[in-house]
Amino acid sequence: MLNDTIIALSSGYVKAAISVIRVSGSDSFSIVNEIFTNKKEKEHQKIYYGNIVDDGNIVDEVMVAFFKGPHSFTAEDMVEISCHGNMLIVNKILKLLIKHGARLAERGEFTKRAFLFNRIDLVNAEAVNDLINATSDASINLAMSALKGKTSTYVENLSDKLLDVISQIEVNIDYPEYDDIEQLRYDSVLPSINGFLDDLNKVIDDTRKGNIIKDGIDTVIVGKPNVGKSSLLNAMIKEDKAIVTEIAGTTRDIVEGKIEINGITLNLIDTAGIHESNDKIEKIGINKSLEYLDKAKLVLVLLDGSKPLDDDDKQILEKTKTYNRIIILNKDDIGNNVFVDGAIKISALNHDIEELENKIKELFANYEYNNEPILFNARQLGLLERAKRSLLQAKSEAENGQVIDIISIPLKEAYDSILEILGRKGDFESFLSSIFSKFCLGK
Ligand code: GDP
Repeated sequence: MLNDTIIALSSGYVKAAISVIRVSGSDSFSIVNEIFTNKKEKEHQKIYYGNIVDDGNIVDEVMVAFFKGPHSFTAEDMVEISCHGNMLIVNKILKLLIKHGARLAERGEFTKRAFLFNRIDLVNAEAVNDLINATSDASINLAMSALKGKTSTYVENLSDKLLDVISQIEVNIDYPEYDDIEQLRYDSVLPSINGFLDDLNKVIDDTRKGNIIKDGIDTVIVGKPNVGKSSLLNAMIKEDKAIVTEIAGTTRDIVEGKIEINGITLNLIDTAGIHESNDKIEKIGINKSLEYLDKAKLVLVLLDGSKPLDDDDKQILEKTKTYNRIIILNKDDIGNNVFVDGAIKISALNHDIEELENKIKELFANYEYNNEPILFNARQLGLLERAKRSLLQAKSEAENGQVIDIISIPLKEAYDSILEILGRKGDFESFLSSIFSKFCLGK
């Protein structure tokens, strides 16, 4: 039910000085007023001091903010109770609110309501979640710009442009007798389709980059045991997270860490060494390494540069040939006996890895956040790609000289896909009103 009153502990289940309980729904003011000692008439966006009471007993001393819908996060009447951050107190207040008619919200339900009440579109809703989960400055900027509506405006402009093309075609189909409308030929829509495809290709490319900025670059370190993978991970993370030992094959599991280089997040994955092994647990780790290799966007191939390469090293070099990789000769501090074309030299033990960091910066230099309004997740990217497929179909039909009615079908599909990014469905009414507003057909 959409109109019931929902509650949640918005500040998370952690002991803190202050916790914030959110209440949203048509009864939120009345429910809170029943348990709140401050009986003043509540005004929009004002904070009130008082006690939360249960049968006359004080539960906590609180500050309570009131927001009148539609000028609230959910567009409903909302209340935010700032209480002391002890979970016993928080739970008492939550139970009390439930006793007075509220219910616990489901995950994301506040944002879902904001979407359902048209306060935000789907892109904004996703941005709220992204902002909370962002792990780098660049991804915070990206989510914030989406939240502020930049992404939505961009998508709307994109859909308007496409609607223009569709409108021209629709007018020709429905009102061919109007002589003030230029009779449209398939070859006259081709430039518009091509222009739109250029825009779409650019935004798809930007979105892919944006996704990398947001999610980070999955980076796998591979190499046979004892070449210094854990030491490299430690040097990159600059803390002793992975266990380093002298016994070959100690890092049996996958250890993960996140680092930021030039605003780009690398998701570092240390793997069990890739080599022939009979140890059961080690084998699981090795299989996982190979699995991770396939998912990785960057592979750091680590070799012990102080010793001649052996068959295991050669096999790893061969296996990673087709990946986006950096070949690294480690243990440069104790001499180097190896030459591998394009390899860089480091000493993981001495945290002497500047050359590697520079190489990574160089590889991803064009992934720096450029503040362009771009889309930012797999769902949005999928819809852009679906729109592109429809447009390519329209283009090939136009090139084959298909009648104009046929070309308009994939164009409308593309339009639907773009609107779906915002969580909206294309409807024919909006086509019509656009046609009428542009061509003054009511003469
Ligand atoms: P892994 O099995 O590939 O994860 O290798 P470790 O990081 O556990 O390192 C194996 C051994 O090599 C340890 O004794 C490290 O101290 C040593 N080691 C790692 N990197 C270097 C380095 O750059 N120079 C030297 N001299 N020893 C290193």
